[in-house]
Amino acid sequence: MTINEKIKNILSNKAKFIFITGGVVSSLGKGLASASLATVLQSRGFKVRLRKLDPYLNVDPGTMSPYQHGEVFVTDDGTEADLDLGHYERFSGVPAKRADSVTTGIIYQRVIDKERHGDYLGATIQVVPHVTNEIKDFILSDITDEDFVLCEIGGTVGDIEGQPYLEAIRQLAYELGRERIMFIHVTLLPYIGAAGELKTKPTQHSVKQLQEYGIQPDMILCRSPIQIPENEKRKIALFCNVREENVIAALDASSIYEVPINYSKEGMDDAVCRYFGLKDVPAADLSKWEHIVNVLKNPEGTVTIGVVGKYTQLLEAYKSLNEALVHGGIANNYKVKIKWIDSEKLEGEDAEAELSDVSGILVPGGFGQRGTEGKIKAIKYARENKVPFLGICFGMQMAVIETMRDVAGIKNAGTTEFSPDCEAVVGLMTEWDKDGAKQIRHKDGDLGGTMRLGAYECELESGSKVAQIYGSNKISERHRHRYEVNMKYESVLNKSGMSITGRSPDGKLPEIVEIKDHPWFIGVQFHPELKSRPLAPHPLFVSFVKASINNSRLI
Ligand code: GLN
Repeated sequence: MTINEKIKNILSNKAKFIFITGGVVSSLGKGLASASLATVLQSRGFKVRLRKLDPYLNVDPGTMSPYQHGEVFVTDDGTEADLDLGHYERFSGVPAKRADSVTTGIIYQRVIDKERHGDYLGATIQVVPHVTNEIKDFILSDITDEDFVLCEIGGTVGDIEGQPYLEAIRQLAYELGRERIMFIHVTLLPYIGAAGELKTKPTQHSVKQLQEYGIQPDMILCRSPIQIPENEKRKIALFCNVREENVIAALDASSIYEVPINYSKEGMDDAVCRYFGLKDVPAADLSKWEHIVNVLKNPEGTVTIGVVGKYTQLLEAYKSLNEALVHGGIANNYKVKIKWIDSEKLEGEDAEAELSDVSGILVPGGFGQRGTEGKIKAIKYARENKVPFLGICFGMQMAVIETMRDVAGIKNAGTTEFSPDCEAVVGLMTEWDKDGAKQIRHKDGDLGGTMRLGAYECELESGSKVAQIYGSNKISERHRHRYEVNMKYESVLNKSGMSITGRSPDGKLPEIVEIKDHPWFIGVQFHPELKSRPLAPHPLFVSFVKASINNSRLI
């Protein structure tokens, strides 16, 4: 379908588009703002969709270091995406898809593929219109009966990379009509302590810059450390050409789950409905979110979980994990305090000294050798001291290696990921089944987008702890890995007290291990944290936190 046909199509359906841009500084929490607005609109009966457009040149964040980009979020359909998609899912409950995340890398790849294929019929290929058309094509794709499509533009207005995106959304506003499109600009009001004032000038400049691209914001969402005085709101409205009631304060919240409630109180959703001329809309019902905030503020107790990983300097790298633990706490009316433990440092430290004050131990996903011996040390401590343990992906692989080394006595048990000469208890997967089709990989193949990614079914052993926890014998969970525990060690593992209690439907891939003679010791090859939501906490996290609470009573 050509872009003009797509525009015609969209004109005949009801979807309204809200574009969220950011100004002044990065890290303003645009993702959270978008997700929160979506939640509030949902609570008023609207169907929402959230999308992220990232101006960087990588095809996806999959090959980026977590220090660069934070966590890589994985969708059911196997897209490696920005962590904001995690916020979107956690808040809206709508599973994100490949069609919800794009980068400049993907856009250019599509344009160049078309050029090579001869699709442009001899034209000179340019940013406008070819790149901008591709961006518009992404925005308008895969839309059915949504009331609102919220598109967050990554980066900060003024970035060179972001310009084609701003041009594309400007064009869309022209083509679809301003009544179908709303622009929300998120900015920062810095507080100058010496003057005792919030400063609006950076916001004014940022809006001017947006106007230079032909975009007039309809709402300004001002991140601010304190309440914004009415006269400052008036000033922003006047100088930025925005209705005063559409200058919304976004104050720092004690919990991210309070943000939808705060926005609604500030009148954000009313302003959106007013903008689009929507009348007789039911009031927002955020009672479920109020319950969550209430538990977070008044928990029955606090439980400390030790997370042993190598990216503990940048907690964004463990975003979903952090949230899933919070959700597990909410379900138990408890606050979860996370003790972040640097696995590399743990190598040179006494495990007892570092771990005796935590009630549960979690080893998350990871890549590469650095810090692995520290993880194995923590796992050994959890196994021997009967501390509840959850190993996720790499954490499960390390748990298997630990049992092989310390219980089965195979001293050089390891993974081919970083030790080619080890006894390869964990090895590279070169073939597996996906929806009945064989996936094949090679040792020297591309790294980007080639892992075993996305949702796969897993069958659970009846009577196992995991089957009890899930309340089912068949589950579907999201994966992101290249290595796998080798099934040929199953009998040795069994003899060492570790059982495989979850496997792929063809029986070839071990997905879950358990130590039965332990209060709670589970390793999973998938990432349960990606599917946990505050309103639907993941059963593994609920159970793990519960076991840790029970253990805390023993400490
Ligand atoms: N590095 C391991 C693998 O590729 C684990 C990956 C992960 O923890 N996500 O299999």
